[in-house]
Amino acid sequence: MLRVYNTLSEKKEDFIPLQEGKVGLYACGMTVYDKPHIGHARKEVAIDLIVSYLRYSGYQVTYVRNFTDVDDNIIRRANDRGVSCDELTAENIAAFYRAVDALGLTRPDVEPKATEHMAEIITIVEKLIEKGHAYAAADGSVYFAVESFTGYGKLSNRKLDELLAGTRFEPEAGKRNPLDFALWKSAKPGEPSWASPWGKGRPGWHIECSAMSSKYLGDSFDIHAGGRDLIFPHHENEIAQSEAASGKPFVKYWVHNGFLTVEGEKMSKSLGNFITVDDALDQYHPEVLRLFMLSTHYRTPIDFSYAGLADAERRVSYFYETMKLVAKIAGDAAPKKSERSEAFIAEFRESMEDDFNSPKVLAALIAFCKFLNEAAVSKKTRPAADEAAGYLAAIGEVGKVFGILQALPAERIAAIQDIQLKRAKLTRGEIDALIAERNAHRKEKNFAAADEVRGKLDALGILIKDTPDGTEWSFK
Ligand SMILES: [Zn+2]
Repeated sequence: MLRVYNTLSEKKEDFIPLQEGKVGLYACGMTVYDKPHIGHARKEVAIDLIVSYLRYSGYQVTYVRNFTDVDDNIIRRANDRGVSCDELTAENIAAFYRAVDALGLTRPDVEPKATEHMAEIITIVEKLIEKGHAYAAADGSVYFAVESFTGYGKLSNRKLDELLAGTRFEPEAGKRNPLDFALWKSAKPGEPSWASPWGKGRPGWHIECSAMSSKYLGDSFDIHAGGRDLIFPHHENEIAQSEAASGKPFVKYWVHNGFLTVEGEKMSKSLGNFITVDDALDQYHPEVLRLFMLSTHYRTPIDFSYAGLADAERRVSYFYETMKLVAKIAGDAAPKKSERSEAFIAEFRESMEDDFNSPKVLAALIAFCKFLNEAAVSKKTRPAADEAAGYLAAIGEVGKVFGILQALPAERIAAIQDIQLKRAKLTRGEIDALIAERNAHRKEKNFAAADEVRGKLDALGILIKDTPDGTEWSFK
């Protein structure tokens, strides 16, 4: 039985979807005023893992992820750069797709944009006014009246009076209560605006998710996902808007991924430690970044560092080296299940059923690879071809859910080496030449000269291994 941690109850719960066999999942997407950073990558990898495991488990999942393509940051950035909001958002949406495609993430089934759902947004705001949960101010802005919704604060565990005590300011002009939030903002000069019953304006941020989730998943759905930083006020406000409008419970399971820091510090442009996905992928293969993210449980804070990526790279290489070794034994035999491969799959499922525990799965995968490497050394323990093919199939099955280990081992090992060479400012030709030089000395039995060349390779961080197929090399 799958158990999922629900932020609403603050505990793991049995996962029972509203409709048997089907799951509706909405994830708050990116506000596209800038290129995606590694915090976005963390969140997308986490949600992809969840969607992918639900599908693996047989659920028919409808995955919706929006783009927030109108907001203060977008308007400010577009004005600063002297481009239109449309140009800016189109550019950043393209950058987002490049990043998630490089990481091999599955595209959602629906990807609604706020600017393309004005009619739905206006309809829900009208409904909230009609039901007495919202009011229009004199300037044409519309606010949600938090006091009108009794459950306000239930997700973030906050009480209205405590929240009020924490506000030091008088309500903004037009607001009845300082905690009331904008559903619709009246147009200001130089801003994009849309016609509405309250005059020209644009939606507040929170309302788009209520409008778009109900359009594609209904008033009540199974999972709402997003980063922890969205719990308050964004998700709290989504609950208030949606439940006040529909009179029905909004979401059954609230799933939030943990924060990301960079070497122990909050990532920010002012600290100079802002890392875009492009920056990380310039240094490491996307599969390495993906494995790095999966090495921490999705709810646990993750601390990003290039040293951490280097560790993940060693692990990805180890997995592919193991696959290469086992593939050699397997040849083209048909896979046969064995006790060991079945046990590995069972361990995978058990870990995933426990709130998608990916680090536990990776630990099991490392142990499985260790067993395979040890078994492959001696003729006595080496698996039969069909059994070896079965082991490879088991790695492939788990890897598919994780979005890793789907490439041909030799090709991926070479691709990772190419990136390592780039980082070390070396070429494959230089290394091949040194290896050829060493082997020539060895042939002449000039072992001192051969060792000297080996020392040169060692200083470059290159490890060499003599095999029956010739000398292989890898970075240390
Ligand atoms: Zn949202």
